[in-house]
Amino acid sequence: MTLLHLSLRHFIPSSLLSPSTQNTHHHRARFKPRASSSFPQPNPKNSGVIVIGAGLAGLAAATHLNSQNIPFLLLEASDAVGGRVRTDKVQGFLLDRGFQIFITGYPEAQKLLDYSALNLHKFYSGARVYYNGQFHTVSDPLRHFWDSLQSLANPIGSILDKLLIASTRIRVLSKSDEEILSSKEVSTIDLLRKLGFSDSVIGSFFRPFFGGIFFDKELDTTSRLFDFIFKCLALGDNTLPANGIGAIPQQLAARLPPNSILLNSKVVSVYFDDSVSDSASPSVRLENGEVFRSELGVIVAVEEPQAAKLLPGRSEPVKQKGARSTVCLYFTADRAQVPVGDPVLYLNGSGNGIVNNMFFATNVAPSYGPPDKALVSVSLIGMYEGVSDDDLTSEVVRELSGWFGAPMVGTWRHLKTYRIGFAQPNQRPPTDLMKNPRFGSGVYVCGDHLTSATFDGALVSGRRAVEALLSDRALVRS
Ligand SMILES: Cc1cc2nc3c(=O)[nH]c(=O)nc-3n(C[C@H](O)[C@H](O)[C@H](O)COP(=O)(O)OP(=O)(O)OC[C@H]3O[C@@H](n4cnc5c(N)ncnc54)[C@H](O)[C@@H]3O)c2cc1C
Repeated sequence: MTLLHLSLRHFIPSSLLSPSTQNTHHHRARFKPRASSSFPQPNPKNSGVIVIGAGLAGLAAATHLNSQNIPFLLLEASDAVGGRVRTDKVQGFLLDRGFQIFITGYPEAQKLLDYSALNLHKFYSGARVYYNGQFHTVSDPLRHFWDSLQSLANPIGSILDKLLIASTRIRVLSKSDEEILSSKEVSTIDLLRKLGFSDSVIGSFFRPFFGGIFFDKELDTTSRLFDFIFKCLALGDNTLPANGIGAIPQQLAARLPPNSILLNSKVVSVYFDDSVSDSASPSVRLENGEVFRSELGVIVAVEEPQAAKLLPGRSEPVKQKGARSTVCLYFTADRAQVPVGDPVLYLNGSGNGIVNNMFFATNVAPSYGPPDKALVSVSLIGMYEGVSDDDLTSEVVRELSGWFGAPMVGTWRHLKTYRIGFAQPNQRPPTDLMKNPRFGSGVYVCGDHLTSATFDGALVSGRRAVEALLSDRALVRS
């Protein structure tokens, strides 16, 4: 018998469990049971807390429960942990499911992750912008002083723009994360204009750079997120783990007790089993009919559209705002057939074409490909529905031939295309990046739709859901 299958009452005095029972009955009307009787009743298994979804939010929740010695079961619909943060191995290459960067300055990540075990490889601090048919390097003066002196004269922004970048850095560093995430908000584009940035630097640098982070070319995303990311970029490096971005959730999962994660276990309903007289917490039913009963509560850590399906009555902001989407195309090349060896991010500052950003992943982390091969990663913003993969590939090759020359790009071989319909929830104003994780009746919610749509936001949301649950169950003081 594993820890999970023992009743929680073996671990926690029943007096500590009782306050929740009153709360539960109070809220139950709001949380209507789904028709559980229409299914044959298998033997329900008991777990302290049930966490649904093993993305970063669910894994963070499980990590915090584990650190408090609270038994839990983590149920994941897919065949691996990570959610949106996964890496596939294809023909000896590591393909992250979409272009993702891990910023070491993320504050919650610093508390939860072992950076040295991730073997993080740094990007160049800055970017190379394709503008007017030429490349121009934009550098972080604190990390690449001489490069940044040279870049003072380039056409990517005026001297005033460069001074404004420095003052923006000072402004965001002077604020706490809480202040930033709850500050008065406008869209990023309005903030940049209000701060006095020129149209030229907005178009050639901010639009492809932050547009690529938010999957939002218009820069409608809240200024809160802009400030938060700007601050994290100032405090840390852009990196990739040697084993792919999926190494981040895998590190969290590896620290959890054996058998505490069930993969291929899609939850179809969260409900109260009224046939159990002392039922104070919800149960969950899997697609295959299996039932798990929680004793302390259920944490729903699924992406926003799925949360709306599992939690009746929860509004569906995705429908109102539309999700952020991206397409990522991978190509392989001989290592001699790429134009540079440095780990720099290329941005399309030309205002034309479909490529937003690209980079040579094997220049950042050589482990992303076999020793003699280079991996090229190209990102587009949006889904390009109605355009076939073949047509997208041809267009990308045509466009990048204009950047690097047709003889070189013509040798690249298309490897795989990822179309990611739901990359991030839409975070244009109005936003609430510190949403209450309490759904009611022993049900808690976490995920990047409660905080900032970042790795860090997802990790924070998992912790907050556990803190709320433990506080409601009188297991800790809030
Ligand atoms: C292409 C791309 C690039 C990104 N780049 C960055 C970046 O560079 N930096 C950054 O900070 N952030 C980035 N993000 C955002 C970041 O990945 C997300 O904000 C974060 O990973 C969300 O984690 P989550 O746990 O909230 O949700 P998810 O990762 O979506 O996890 C939800 C989990 O729930 C599971 N699930 C869903 N329904 C059920 C069910 N019914 N039963 C059981 N399980 C279920 C899913 O399978 C999934 O594993 C990027 C996202 C994408 C897609």
